Amino acid sequence: MEALFCIGCGAQIQTENKKAAGYTPAGSIKKAEETGDLYCQRCFRLRHYNEIVDVHITDDEFLKLLHEVGDSQALVVNVIDIFDFNGSVIPGLARFVSGNDILLVGNKRDILPKSVKDSKVTQWLTERAHEEGLRPLDVILTSAQNHQAIKELIERIDTLRKGRDVYVVGVTNVGKSTLINAIIKEITGSKDVITTSRFPGTTLDKIEIPLDDGSYIFDTPGIIHRHQMAHYLTAKNLKYISPKKEIKPKTYQLNPEQTLFLGGLGRFDFISGNKQGFTAYFDNNLKLHRTKLAGADIFYNKHAGSLLTPPTGKEVADFPKLVRHEFTIKDKMDIVYSGLGWIRIKASQDKPAQVAAWAPDGVAVVLRKALI
Ligand code: GDP
Repeated sequence: MEALFCIGCGAQIQTENKKAAGYTPAGSIKKAEETGDLYCQRCFRLRHYNEIVDVHITDDEFLKLLHEVGDSQALVVNVIDIFDFNGSVIPGLARFVSGNDILLVGNKRDILPKSVKDSKVTQWLTERAHEEGLRPLDVILTSAQNHQAIKELIERIDTLRKGRDVYVVGVTNVGKSTLINAIIKEITGSKDVITTSRFPGTTLDKIEIPLDDGSYIFDTPGIIHRHQMAHYLTAKNLKYISPKKEIKPKTYQLNPEQTLFLGGLGRFDFISGNKQGFTAYFDNNLKLHRTKLAGADIFYNKHAGSLLTPPTGKEVADFPKLVRHEFTIKDKMDIVYSGLGWIRIKASQDKPAQVAAWAPDGVAVVLRKALI
């Protein structure tokens, strides 16, 4: 059998070891011959069911991958999801690529309201990157889904790489595959020129896209961020956390001791402070439900999975319990439910607000300077 490669992660397809990279049942390979889309089981499940099959990129392999990137004379293109900055950060990237030039790509621009200026988003992303110890040469905003700014991205890459190879890195779900596909379409017009090669000392394969001058763009395997909300929902409900369209912010005038439920996925308590507007940035289909803080615990226990959805169906039983995080807000800040969205609070030094944010156990809640 000639060597086949997964078009998702680039791993060499194999049918023997279920726990190793590239495993695909023999039947799926046959089927894929007809469609031309061959994914390993892990990528297939992740794409279609959002199930993580237990073939993790081991931390060891991941370190080797970062080492190889760090040791190369290369431009590193780090793709992040603007909608989920915290869920997009690659742990340790700054340390390993400190000698390399970095181009930061903020993908999923289409989700943010059009009224927000690109320059503001870029500035904001630059600040967040600095906080993570990353010093990108430049920041560019794209929508891989809408094929927006792909040409500009390629031009930027070409200017910044100065004849060097390019490594595209990102955690899963940021849209890296969609972006790579858009890049391939733009530069080659066909898939045939794509090949793969292996990271030395790992079972991981990188996808190579040849450039005119003999250099390559390498697409590296996406690293799974274990704290993403995506891991707790089935395919049917993923739409709530992976918006396809511009989100329409909704402002709620809340009195102290009121609670907002974010479907059944999270909760926001306004504990004390002046009555004020809280602006929610979530997928347009996610139903927010206002109730009294005093009865909120009982309300959630009674209605999670019925009135408060998602989760639905068999997700409900496995859904992690909500964990409470309390904050005193004295500035214009966002409370981010990692991967789900955020609530903007316009408090100030003399008008602080005491709030609590509840998110599923394992999903991060982060306080940050307001994006909008
Ligand atoms: P990867 O795991 O990083 O390779 O991510 P994928 O390319 O598989 O994309 C993850 C999810 O994000 C999919 O549901 C995509 O349809 C969606 N997605 C990718 N790019 C964009 C984008 O530019 N805008 C929006 N709204 N969604 C996107």
